[in-house]
Amino acid sequence: MVTLTFMAAAAPGIRVTAGEVQAAKDTLVDQVNALWNQNRLKMNVLAFDAAGRRPTGARRTLDVEFRVRWSTSGGDYVMYVYPTNNDLPAIPGRPDRPAFVRAGAGSGRIEMHIAATTDAWVYSHEFGHCIGLPDEYGHAGVQYFRPEGTAGTLLQRPDPVIPANRQGNVRPGGSRDPDLRTTMSTNPNPNLLPRHLWPTALEVRRLLNRHGREAKFGVDVIFSR
Ligand SMILES: [Zn+2]
Repeated sequence: MVTLTFMAAAAPGIRVTAGEVQAAKDTLVDQVNALWNQNRLKMNVLAFDAAGRRPTGARRTLDVEFRVRWSTSGGDYVMYVYPTNNDLPAIPGRPDRPAFVRAGAGSGRIEMHIAATTDAWVYSHEFGHCIGLPDEYGHAGVQYFRPEGTAGTLLQRPDPVIPANRQGNVRPGGSRDPDLRTTMSTNPNPNLLPRHLWPTALEVRRLLNRHGREAKFGVDVIFSR
């Protein structure tokens, strides 16, 4: 069980009803269950010898389930809710106002900025950013923008301006491999791949090795559709 502690709040300076905040909370939980908990993500924890070189053969398979825990006072994440997409900050060079995830300045929290009324799949995609995943639809010719308008990797042009055959994996010659399109590349898309569990697995390995005295541990990701 991987628990992320969120606080939900009206976006600063924006008039948001309690009902809109609740709707956003419900949609996030629904989408985490529908997408991130749908595919029986599993992790293998492998015990290594004390030198950390050889597997001892001992292993345990762990089911991975993501859970959102709501806090009213704090948490590692904050979800800032806006009534509609039009209420999100404008970004120079972009005609739309997309949801985004960023490190909060000074707060130490990861901020998700999202509209209560946006499409549900946006929540599952933004949750992917919360567990450390990048967008996967970058390609030459697409500009990235940060909210203040400088070049960065935080935000990107929306899907409608990206030709369909440029999203996800593109084969030599330009055709598309549909099996490699994912929730982080093409929306709405329910595909997840083992790489989407790697940031979490690396975190698990770090924690295990911090507390393990005699043994060292490695992790592997298992993914069954
Ligand atoms: Zn994204």
